[in-house]
Amino acid sequence: MSAIDSLPPLREVIAAQGLSARKALGQNFLLDLNLTAKIARQAGDLTACDVLEVGPGPGGLTRGLLSEGARHLVAVEKDPRCLPALAEIAETYPGRLTVLEGDALSLDPFAHLAPPVRIVANLPYNVGTELLVRWLTPPDWPPRWLSLTLMFQREVAQRITAAPGSKAYGRLALLAQWRCDARIVMDLPPQAFTPPPKVSSAVVHLDALPAPRYPADPGMLERVVATAFNQRRKMLRSSLKGLAPDIEAHLEAAGIAPTDRAEQIDLERFCALTRSLTELL
Ligand code: SAM
Repeated sequence: MSAIDSLPPLREVIAAQGLSARKALGQNFLLDLNLTAKIARQAGDLTACDVLEVGPGPGGLTRGLLSEGARHLVAVEKDPRCLPALAEIAETYPGRLTVLEGDALSLDPFAHLAPPVRIVANLPYNVGTELLVRWLTPPDWPPRWLSLTLMFQREVAQRITAAPGSKAYGRLALLAQWRCDARIVMDLPPQAFTPPPKVSSAVVHLDALPAPRYPADPGMLERVVATAFNQRRKMLRSSLKGLAPDIEAHLEAAGIAPTDRAEQIDLERFCALTRSLTELL
């Protein structure tokens, strides 16, 4: 563990604060500061950005983000036991770290952030997908953030970046890739964490596109994709028949064979189908 700052090593911080990891809070900590600085670098240049971190815990990634130059970091943590360790980090980086105690699912941190904003987090697995979907579906696009650099279970990372025809391809891939460039930038084995989780992890980086890749009404696209993948093994003329009486004509207008299945259809054709169905309503 190298000294990227003048603070004590994380193992000492955890022992001194009695931060035994709690499973219910998804606590698998990163203690290697070389690794957390490397994750921070995947987010791009932080020096001209505010950064939002969800779930800083004892502050390993927080320290990486600050040492990599984050202009101002807002960290949202639910576990009050972590606050003294985070306060110590804030003292080492005067004026650059704001800690908000609370649940990231109910708290709006954007009032504390100035654009441009990058979001970087080793997310608690139990809330990670829900937060990602919220960040991907704001009322307006472009969103209030420039990029997301997020740790997920490897299987979830694969679902976000999947291509048509693969098992992992579905709602998450389409939602993410419609309005972002998404790619896996790091793989981490369970042993990188303390305690080690049961599964491997991966960091996904998503850059927000200035506009969606293809035009489509967001609510209708979401509905079409959710309905199609709800019964992913069925032919689309059957799984989507509830959306319009003449669904076969809409599928054909979008260049989709009525006998195709959801996992064969790329984003461009899902958007064409959504447009065809929206003209109807
Ligand atoms: N960032 C730290 C690291 O990399 O070592 C900790 C990551 S740990 C996987 C997830 C963190 O999220 C824990 O500190 C946990 O207390 C916090 N957490 C869990 N649920 C949360 C929620 N709903 N809102 C904010 N933080 C939460």
